[in-house]
Amino acid sequence: MAKMFIAGESVDSVTGQTTEVRNPANGEVVDTVPKGIAQDAQRAIDAAAAAFDQWSHTSAEERANMLFKSAELVESERKPLSELLTREQGKPLQESATELEHFLHGLHFVAGLASKVRGAQVPLPAKNAYGMVIRKPLGVCGAIVPWNFPLTLMGTKVGPALAAGNTVVVKPASTTPLSSIRIIELMNQAGFPKGVLNVVTGPGGVVGEELLKNPKVRRIAFTGESGTGKHVAEVACSDFKRVTLELGGSDPMIVCDDADIPKAITGAMVGRYWNAGQACLAVKRLYVFDKVFDAFVKGLADKVARYQPGDGLTKAEKPNIRMGPLHTAAQREEIEAQVQDAIDRGAHVVIGGARPEGKEYERGFFYQPTILVDVPDDARAVQEETFGPLLPIFRVSNLDEAIERANNSIYGLGSSIWTKNIDNIDAAIDRLQAGNVWVNSLHYGYDELPFGGVKASGFGREHGPEALDYYMEPKGVVITH
Ligand code: NAD
Repeated sequence: MAKMFIAGESVDSVTGQTTEVRNPANGEVVDTVPKGIAQDAQRAIDAAAAAFDQWSHTSAEERANMLFKSAELVESERKPLSELLTREQGKPLQESATELEHFLHGLHFVAGLASKVRGAQVPLPAKNAYGMVIRKPLGVCGAIVPWNFPLTLMGTKVGPALAAGNTVVVKPASTTPLSSIRIIELMNQAGFPKGVLNVVTGPGGVVGEELLKNPKVRRIAFTGESGTGKHVAEVACSDFKRVTLELGGSDPMIVCDDADIPKAITGAMVGRYWNAGQACLAVKRLYVFDKVFDAFVKGLADKVARYQPGDGLTKAEKPNIRMGPLHTAAQREEIEAQVQDAIDRGAHVVIGGARPEGKEYERGFFYQPTILVDVPDDARAVQEETFGPLLPIFRVSNLDEAIERANNSIYGLGSSIWTKNIDNIDAAIDRLQAGNVWVNSLHYGYDELPFGGVKASGFGREHGPEALDYYMEPKGVVITH
């Protein structure tokens, strides 16, 4: 059985209760984890609070070295960790390996920043006086992580928090705790003082809620649904915690008639069907100019037909590409309901639109990659976040129409434009209501750039040197001599 990691030790819940983690491809139990309660979270928070003074006064270089070392230790178990991630999450092995690679890249990036934090010296109007801005870590940080990219989304919180001198309690999603626990055990072997980096497993409404409410926690980094995010903001902000929210998305992709169509097709395919479409940052509404619409839809459908649902631990026969199951039964039911709603409103299925048939699919939550056209703007697939392999494609007559419809969403995470025309590019960068705009590029969160949303996609930024700003408080100092 996997265990929580608190104050330098692997521990059970105080109740001794456990939860099973099941493989979404076949329903088999992968392992069990402690079913933590508030008291377990309190133990971890207390340990993190006790470790803060020492860790925040450790030299920046030493913190950086420990982060580099921890990345090395994680790297040493690259293969078993990727396999474990596939078994608990469902994604194909190659995608798990890519996720782990992204986690390591992010950790290296932020470890490099740890010793490069700068403050400021400021001239003041007062006589014989000057000001300084120094930057102080915040204290205990709660990192609340979803199940779709459990490793990268843990890394984007843990890395900058530790680099800046904070201590951390991680709360992984209940269905994907295993690879996260192993990573935290490995990272701790780098020599972090006891209590600096902890992980507590258990239900979000219990363990997560304790992190939101406990006054010793001074910072919450949350990634998850917008509805949960709203609750997180209400509870954590009422205790004056610093909060960042990385929430849902419904990214528009705009394809103009002068775009490189084969490249745009690949961008749409990977951008939508990676992780079986269970990504915050994904092409969820595709707006294609009238002149290239038919060719684009046909070209994309031909490529998407190569996806073959199946167990992520097995490979599809070339030229097919493996697509894993959806993560839970509820996730699949929601996609099915969104597809049915669109069809009821007049949409047409270009490809997919159902579960795959066959004995090999009976035990997993598989769904076919799906493309819809003629979807009206009031359909659920347009208004809501679609968290699965479902892509509605819309015909538009010009860029103004595309941008207006792209912005007609409560979300504002990613967006992209595919064109060679600099005026179109300018307009899209300026007018798309989103935290990120990609130009002729795949929707991908680079560690080097700030990443986050606007509107119901949340606030605050992860990634980039900017991420560190959310883990430090500037302190104004006046010196008179
Ligand atoms: P979720 O909101 O259900 O859960 C996220 C995490 O919050 C889990 O660890 C859960 O246990 C915890 N939680 C639940 N209730 C809580 C509470 N009351 N207090 C504290 N914690 C609580 O989201 P999910 O279904 O795991 O993830 C999918 C969602 O995440 C999608 O909407 C997706 O778009 C979003 N997401 C956003 C980003 C981003 O960077 N913007 C990245 C990935 C996923």
